[in-house]
Amino acid sequence: MNEPIKKIALLTSGGDAPGMNAAVRSVVRACTYYRIECVGVYRGYEGLIEGDFEALSGRHVSNIINKGGTILKSARSMEFKTVEGRAKAHKNLVDAGVNALVVVGGDGTFTGGLKFIQEFNFPVVGIPGTIDNDIYGTDYTIGYDTALNTVVEVIDKIRDTAGSHNRLFFIEVMGRDAGFIALNAGIGSGAEEVLIPEKDIGLDKLEESLKNGRDKGKTSSIVVVTEGKKIGKSVFELGDYIKEKYPAYDIRVSVLGHMQRGGTPSCFDRVLASRLGVAAVECLLDRVSGVMVGVINNEIVLTGLNKAIKLNNEIDKELLRVAEITSV
Ligand code: ATP
Repeated sequence: MNEPIKKIALLTSGGDAPGMNAAVRSVVRACTYYRIECVGVYRGYEGLIEGDFEALSGRHVSNIINKGGTILKSARSMEFKTVEGRAKAHKNLVDAGVNALVVVGGDGTFTGGLKFIQEFNFPVVGIPGTIDNDIYGTDYTIGYDTALNTVVEVIDKIRDTAGSHNRLFFIEVMGRDAGFIALNAGIGSGAEEVLIPEKDIGLDKLEESLKNGRDKGKTSSIVVVTEGKKIGKSVFELGDYIKEKYPAYDIRVSVLGHMQRGGTPSCFDRVLASRLGVAAVECLLDRVSGVMVGVINNEIVLTGLNKAIKLNNEIDKELLRVAEITSV
């Protein structure tokens, strides 16, 4: 990084997450505070390639801290995965006089950002924004806390109806290859069992656990399942399998889906996003590039984008134990 940072571009990319707007507001306000310009890029890397930019002042981001989604929109761009696409994006930034980029998103977004640095020596800093909490280098990603609270609220409601009809519910939650939402929401909602990619409990253990619950007089059971195939079956296949083996069980399957991405961001996510937005701008002003800003043990920590992409955020083994003990 040679030239002084005078103009920063900002985009949100990949799956949207509640709290992204708080991050946008924070980056813009930090730019205003440090007297540098900020340019919003619409629709992630797609807008970077098309030059869909707008100068953002502190006033543009008034009253967005409490809004879900992202005012900058998000998109998945195939063209940015090509060298030609990235070259177009670079030209647009240079033509607009931008000399650094902040990207808010997940693994894919950071992979794109890293390539951009390597190919054009253009400064990029990443902010982790995804409900899945699957990014190495931060205890929490923006949107995760809100999504957790949304899931717990919905499971509480399902529990009411499950209890009234003595039903067994399989509830699928988001998380892709990571069980953070399922495990924490499972503990928080008192689920009988949690099925996550990080720990394959096997069908026998699931059956045993459901039977034990019945024997102990539980009138309803909730099994929280991370999306994708768990113990070799999708959530619907699991429901069918248990129904066939135990016809007495009254089984329902519920897929929570995109509601988990929406809604008013929690205070935790707003504060996290505000901290990370300021940290990202300060990084660039300190001439630091190629890192993701995160929070570990409540301290701001910088992690190389290469590491953030390659390594996995581990599930806390203690939480697995707590889930097992509290669901007896
Ligand atoms: P989420 O975790 O919410 O899905 P994400 O950032 O991982 O967020 P992706 O769709 O994987 O979401 O990536 C966002 C964008 O980053 C892609 O649409 C693409 O433009 C860019 N990107 C992803 N992978 C690469 C890659 N290998 N090379 C260049 N750009 C990439």
